[in-house]
Amino acid sequence: MTTHTFDIVVLGGGSGGYAAALRASELGKTVALIEKDKVGGTCLHRGCIPTKALLHAAEVAEHVRGAAHVGISATLDGIDAAGVRAYREGIVAKKYKGLEGLVKARGITTVSGLGRLNADRTVSVGDDVYAGTDVILATGSYSRTLPGLEIGGRILTSEQALSLDVIPERVLILGGGVIGVEFASVWRSFGAEVTIVEALPHLVPNEDIALSKGLERAFRRRGIQYSLGVRFQTATQDDTSVTVTLEDGKEFTADYLLVAVGRGPVTADLGFEEAGVTLDRDFVTVDDDLRTGVPGVWAVGDITPGLQLAHRGFQQGIAVAERIAGLAPVNIPDAQIPKVTYSSPEVASVGVTEQAAIAEHGADAVTAYEYNLAGNGKSEIIGTGGLVKVVRLKDGPVVGVHLLGDRVGELITEGQLAVVWEAHPEDIAPLIHAHPTQSEALGEAFLALAGKPLHAL
Ligand SMILES: Cc1cc2nc3c(=O)[nH]c(=O)nc-3n(C[C@H](O)[C@H](O)[C@H](O)COP(=O)(O)OP(=O)(O)OC[C@H]3O[C@@H](n4cnc5c(N)ncnc54)[C@H](O)[C@@H]3O)c2cc1C
Repeated sequence: MTTHTFDIVVLGGGSGGYAAALRASELGKTVALIEKDKVGGTCLHRGCIPTKALLHAAEVAEHVRGAAHVGISATLDGIDAAGVRAYREGIVAKKYKGLEGLVKARGITTVSGLGRLNADRTVSVGDDVYAGTDVILATGSYSRTLPGLEIGGRILTSEQALSLDVIPERVLILGGGVIGVEFASVWRSFGAEVTIVEALPHLVPNEDIALSKGLERAFRRRGIQYSLGVRFQTATQDDTSVTVTLEDGKEFTADYLLVAVGRGPVTADLGFEEAGVTLDRDFVTVDDDLRTGVPGVWAVGDITPGLQLAHRGFQQGIAVAERIAGLAPVNIPDAQIPKVTYSSPEVASVGVTEQAAIAEHGADAVTAYEYNLAGNGKSEIIGTGGLVKVVRLKDGPVVGVHLLGDRVGELITEGQLAVVWEAHPEDIAPLIHAHPTQSEALGEAFLALAGKPLHAL
């Protein structure tokens, strides 16, 4: 047994873990980054990046299909699954190489292997022991399934869906949250018949109802089917198909079933509880500063309760590294974190929904304004519908920004600044949005809420 001593030992090299390692090394700490698979984690290898590459390929397919509408002659001859795969893998490989180079350049020691937390707060990897003044747990999450629904064969999680070598002709998706909706969008653009089954009454059910309903309308127009408000009962498969039965007796049959019902934290059998770390429904319990109950042990990313997003992981990793180094980073509550679903159309939001604002402050204290993208020149040019919805407290700040439409994910940063800086629409209304941009739609909403709409009534 050899013991290696560092200032900080990070367990898990995904978004949360590697961000903590990079920032800590910048602050002069020695860091061991323990990773059993590949640094970059879910986001880089199996999540954000490969799915967004697929969504881009899907967008290109749609552009070719719609080329005649803008006077360009082109025909979509087909989707080359191997070509799409090569493109997607190329992007991931390039980003992975860059990240590996960066981690090396910062002098971080990467350790390959499965780490386990010991009772004395060291981490074992095989026969080696890594000791740090501080330990950061960042072991991430895995795709969940439902009781009695076994993954295998034609029943896939997002990991297997990404590595499918065929474009399915008919596909069922269990779960109308972010991952389900993004795959639905890709497969539809690639020509598949797609049906989403969601037990809650709406797609993207955590979003403002205006976005859920707008997405449902857009998906219906795209020919994406969905069943809402009825729970899954069973799934059976044979050599050629999979059939899903719902609690109301309805049946759906397709080539594949994607199970996208959420992600659970990777915290089992890693010594966490034995070392005194408290778990709640498998998530690591942390305080606002991301400390576990064990002194010197911190947790970041998807193993902590809350939004499971890569940029939340980055931010938490940075914050913990800074706190360990004696700095005082700002804590960002989940409500101030921007969320984007990269389907066509995109769904983006920050802050609270109108419904949540009313529940908290009362209907009389809340005003919301919806601007339809039909009035926005740039959206017309690129052929997208959608909406911008801004929620404010009466005579008070903007508390929520909600966007629907192709490319609107890029606009959410302005919404974030408005919400986090507690801007009043009157503060933003005089600021100029370049013409013609989709950001003008946000400007119109701020103008309207400030009582001086320009291109709206
Ligand atoms: C299909 C899909 C699409 C997504 N798209 C987006 C998106 O567009 N935007 C976004 O913000 N988020 C997206 N996410 C979510 C995002 O990927 C996660 O929020 C993010 O990866 C969480 O980072 P993390 O560091 O907590 O965990 P992970 O990225 O899961 O990293 C954990 C790492 O720890 C390693 N590990 C685990 N246990 C051990 C151990 N015992 N020893 C050593 N190593 C270990 C794992 O191998 C892994 O590399 C997506 C997720 C999926 C599945």
